[in-house]
Amino acid sequence: MMRLSQTQLNLIEACPRRFQHSFLEQLGSPLTAEQQARLGWGTKFHRMVQQYAIGLPVTTLDAIDPEVAQLQSCVRSLVSAAPAVFTTDVYSHSEYRRTWEFQGYLFTVIYDLLLMGDEAQIFDWKTYGRPVRSNQLAENWQTRLYPLVLTMTTHYAPEQVAMTYWFVQPEETSEPQSLTFRYSVAQRDRDLQALAGLLDRLATWLQTYAQGHPFPQTTAHSACHGCSFVRRCQREDASVQSWNEVQEVGL
Ligand code: SF4
Repeated sequence: MMRLSQTQLNLIEACPRRFQHSFLEQLGSPLTAEQQARLGWGTKFHRMVQQYAIGLPVTTLDAIDPEVAQLQSCVRSLVSAAPAVFTTDVYSHSEYRRTWEFQGYLFTVIYDLLLMGDEAQIFDWKTYGRPVRSNQLAENWQTRLYPLVLTMTTHYAPEQVAMTYWFVQPEETSEPQSLTFRYSVAQRDRDLQALAGLLDRLATWLQTYAQGHPFPQTTAHSACHGCSFVRRCQREDASVQSWNEVQEVGL
């Protein structure tokens, strides 16, 4: 049974050929030093927030290491921006994993923090700035899959589920910012329908791929911007690499 994550769903939707290269063929270019540093910082930040969430005193001592000091400062900022998130009485799960099977695929999600009371609140930490347009994030498969999996694997009704992103930037002095998306029956039905359609298309592409035909390329050339397969796809006119193409590494 194939496992799919929100990252892979986003890729399939953006460009099926890119999914083929990245996940079926495991091709890709190494990250730049800057990208590796950002990913490393993000991973450490997630780990430090997790430690704080389970009660370890990660922010009480002044660190000599500048990177640790910066991480502690960012965790402090997050905690002071969202104190209720970390002092709640309800069940709190950090780095909480759930798996759901649908149409022969397994979907695994990892919630950075999940509060399970009368309502379920999903939290995700992002180590970049809050996007200007929230509708792009609303359409991202993470925003859709995370509440969907929760409603499909627990007793929570869609209206009882919300997902909040907190954006914390290492170099910025600005306060962390958040975006919350409340789930609903209508949104769950839209997501189920969209997911079923995407999986149907994927099944067809996997079948034809097994017969020697590649997955289709995106028709939107703008989607090639920053893609490491531009040469392979003969779309070198869009070869500027962008940091935002690099996904965060979950713990
Ligand atoms: S270069 Fe464009 S068409 Fe080719 S894999 Fe990347 S996004 Fe898809």
